[in-house]
Amino acid sequence: MSANSGRQQAIQNITNRTPLAVSPTDFLGKIWAQDVFDLGRMEWALSKTAFKSIKKTVQTGEPLDAATADVVAAAMKEWAVSKGAKFFSHIFYPMTNITAEKHDGFIITNSDGGAITEFSGSLLIKGEPDGSSFPNGSLRMTNAARGYTAWDPTSPAYIMHTDNGATLMIPSVFMSWTGEALDKKIPLLRSNAAMNEAGQKVLKLMGETEIASLNSSCGAEQEYFLVDSNFANSRPDLLLAGRTLFGAPPAKGQEFDDHYFGAIPARVQVFMQDYEDQLYKLGIPAKTHHNEVAPGQFEIAPYFEAANIAADHQQLMMTLMKATAKKHGFMCLLHEKPFAGINGSGKHVNWSVGTSTQGNLLDPGSTPHDNLLFLLFCGAVIRGVHLHGPLLRAVIATASNDHRLGANEAPPAILSVYLGDQLEKVFTDIKEGNIHTSELGGEMDLGLSQILNFDRDPGDRNRTSPFAFTGNRFEFRAVGSSQSVSGPLVAMNTMLADSLNWIAGKLETELGGGASQADAVVSVLKELMNEHGNVVFGGDGYSEEWHKAAVEERGLKNIPTTADALPALREASVVELFSSTGVLSPVELESRFEVYAEQYVLSIEVEAKLVIDMAQTLIYPAAAAYLATLANTSQSMSAMGVELDNSVAKLVAQQINAMVGATAELGAALAKEGFSSTEEHMQFCAQGIRPLMDQVRAAADALEGYVADELWPLPKYQEMLFIK
Ligand code: ADP
Ligand code: MG
Repeated sequence: MSANSGRQQAIQNITNRTPLAVSPTDFLGKIWAQDVFDLGRMEWALSKTAFKSIKKTVQTGEPLDAATADVVAAAMKEWAVSKGAKFFSHIFYPMTNITAEKHDGFIITNSDGGAITEFSGSLLIKGEPDGSSFPNGSLRMTNAARGYTAWDPTSPAYIMHTDNGATLMIPSVFMSWTGEALDKKIPLLRSNAAMNEAGQKVLKLMGETEIASLNSSCGAEQEYFLVDSNFANSRPDLLLAGRTLFGAPPAKGQEFDDHYFGAIPARVQVFMQDYEDQLYKLGIPAKTHHNEVAPGQFEIAPYFEAANIAADHQQLMMTLMKATAKKHGFMCLLHEKPFAGINGSGKHVNWSVGTSTQGNLLDPGSTPHDNLLFLLFCGAVIRGVHLHGPLLRAVIATASNDHRLGANEAPPAILSVYLGDQLEKVFTDIKEGNIHTSELGGEMDLGLSQILNFDRDPGDRNRTSPFAFTGNRFEFRAVGSSQSVSGPLVAMNTMLADSLNWIAGKLETELGGGASQADAVVSVLKELMNEHGNVVFGGDGYSEEWHKAAVEERGLKNIPTTADALPALREASVVELFSSTGVLSPVELESRFEVYAEQYVLSIEVEAKLVIDMAQTLIYPAAAAYLATLANTSQSMSAMGVELDNSVAKLVAQQINAMVGATAELGAALAKEGFSSTEEHMQFCAQGIRPLMDQVRAAADALEGYVADELWPLPKYQEMLFIK
């Protein structure tokens, strides 16, 4: 037997790994946002008038006039060039979860053949990265494929450093020439505007006079795995699919919980510090980091920011995380389920809405009036999740997240809202008429401020809920770790806008009829809870009873796969939700359905091909070689008159045959064509392809338990997860 090179070499290489030496950076106050062209830098670099104008744009989102754009562009370029940048790039977020860039030089040559730098306002405001190669769904049909990028001035430009240069990065929207949104940023901005408009109505009806614009906030907790690159590089599945398509469970998994919040391994610690320093320079407020439940799994959470900025920062964080991990000899896995049988990764999206005048509207206030506002906004969320649960499921639907949702460690694929005991009781009392309006509006405030500003003790929280109130915000926990947070934020903002509009209509009628504010609020919330209270659930979301009761008694939907979830984007109610709020036109929404469906099908097909390839070229040869050794040994022993027990050889042969058979079936399934609809094609991927992939894997994983260790070509789970 000869040792397999790739895996054995990887094991050799890793034994003497030491943390990468990184030079310590300056203190936080000095490096904070040093690479960001933020308002402070603009104030310093611009004339008073130009600054006033850009500041207004930044704070209100109003379009930038051409003259100011020119001045800002010139100042931005000066600053970037002084920091070593020779290139600039509009950075944008196509409908997939990726981040896209197109780099251009500042350089132009003058008539003497010399080189100078130039960057005009029109280049800042509009770039043209030929959008034809980005997925645009049906928008491809209705428009020229060309796409445009334009700076989103509410998100500051920044410098990205690489080993040999620096580039000015300009956060941008991406649209077709007729103005249709081809990206994830435009809908997010629109959803925020829709939510603001609806929220203003409610606040006005509640007697508020001074109201700044409402903005949504987001703080995303990101989970990820680190695997030594020596191992990752000898696993084609990790390299191409971001997850292991094969691998038997290790003898020791996460049973002992000894990794969770344990000491961070030295190499990882150094990686984290390096990574966080980079984040600080970019003005990204990294706040906490720790080990997660599974071995090799970690989490990082920045402090929350305005949703639009948080979404840009989230994308940047994922990009930087991968690049920095590589530098430290790791592969960073953002996949939702890189290792079967081991906890998956999610991205908890903490979300709230507020204004600079009223504060956080999801924070119970200190006065009865504040609490009325709080209850209205909270009620609006309850209504939204109930009416649009399938939409919320659709925006977190990806081939990779399907491995996580519905497994008994991640939120169930049923959307319900957890409020906590005290708040649930308040809403139940309102529903059942047990709260007297004199209590709500009068001197007593039900002790809401005390009970609701409650112990934000994580132990007290229901971790099994996909959508939980956590003291002053909601936490959408079913979002996938590799996803952009924009889709979920758009859905949440839009459903909230719709509910606030509904509430405004009802309030207006009540108040017009002469009801007091408190009476009006209670009456509206009573109706709301009667219609939508079914979505509130405080029990164990993983339990079988809930899965049954949710569907049979509560009328909620259990939507297990992406194939089942994405068609929600075509439902009349969803089309109406997005067009009535102005967030997405029907054609923009349809194009999203098409792009997401295509992504789903493609990613399953790529994985299936990889399963076939790895089974045939890596696992079969190893297993066959081992079988040959067994047969030879048996023969030689027999010649000596010793009969060996051949049961292992038989088992190996059996599993080889099972694997070969399933591989052939999978190949045939992949060749199937002629689906009558996208829906049918997705269902075939979910029901016809995935189970066959699992069959191939089951046989291969069984072989891993028999084949001589030194012959096994793929790094094993225990190696990838435990060797640091
Ligand atoms: P936990 O793990 O207990 O959920 P973390 O502190 O890890 O808590 O993460 C909580 C996240 O929620 C952070 O990103 C935090 O900034 C964010 N957050 C806190 N308050 C709000 C709020 N009002 N709106 C949005 N996000 C918030
Ligand atoms: Mg959390």
